Amino acid sequence: MPRRPLNSDAAPSAHDRRARGEDAKSVNSSAICATEDTPSSRPACAEGRGVVVQRPPRQGLLIDYEYCTGCHSCEVACKQEHDYPVGKGGINLCEILTEKPDKTYRIDYLPFTTMYCDLCHARTSEGRQPACVKHCQASTMYHGDVAKLAKIMEEKPHCALFTPR
Ligand code: SF4
Ligand code: SF4
Repeated sequence: MPRRPLNSDAAPSAHDRRARGEDAKSVNSSAICATEDTPSSRPACAEGRGVVVQRPPRQGLLIDYEYCTGCHSCEVACKQEHDYPVGKGGINLCEILTEKPDKTYRIDYLPFTTMYCDLCHARTSEGRQPACVKHCQASTMYHGDVAKLAKIMEEKPHCALFTPR
C-alpha cells in the first residue's frame, strides 16, 4: 500500500508533479569552467595566474523519500542491470521506524547507495537514465548534476542526495 505524505496540502503527489512536468529525471547543466592555481607540471596562462580547466559537473542521485513506497524496484533494477549476485547491489532499501508523539509509528523508506553504485556510467554516458531511476515505481528518483539536485533539496524536505562517485 503506497504511503502518502503526512501533509498532502504542502506536498504535491507524484502524479501532480508529473502532470506539472516537474519529474524530469535527468538534471544536467553545462560544463563548469574553473581557474586553478597552476601546478608546476601544467603550463601557465599568459598572465601567469593559472590555467583554465574544464570540469564535468559532478553527478549524483537524489531520492525524494517522502514518496518512496518501499517497493524494492530500484534494488531489482540495479541487480539486473549490473548482473550482481545475491547479497550485492548498488542500492539497498532501508526502513526507518520512528515513534511519533501520539505513540503511533511512522515508517520511512530510504534507498541508500553502496560502494557498488557507479551511477550507471555505461547508461548515462549514452544519454540514458540510471536503471534505478528508470524503474522507480513512484517517480521519486533523480539523476543529474549535484548542484542542480541540491536546488531541488532547497525546495522541499525528505530528500537525500548521494554522490557515490
Ligand atoms: S545508479 Fe545504477 S548503479 Fe547506482 S544504484 Fe542506481 S541502478 Fe545501481
Ligand atoms: S523504486 Fe522508487 S519507490 Fe520503489 S523503493 Fe526504490 S526509490 Fe522507493
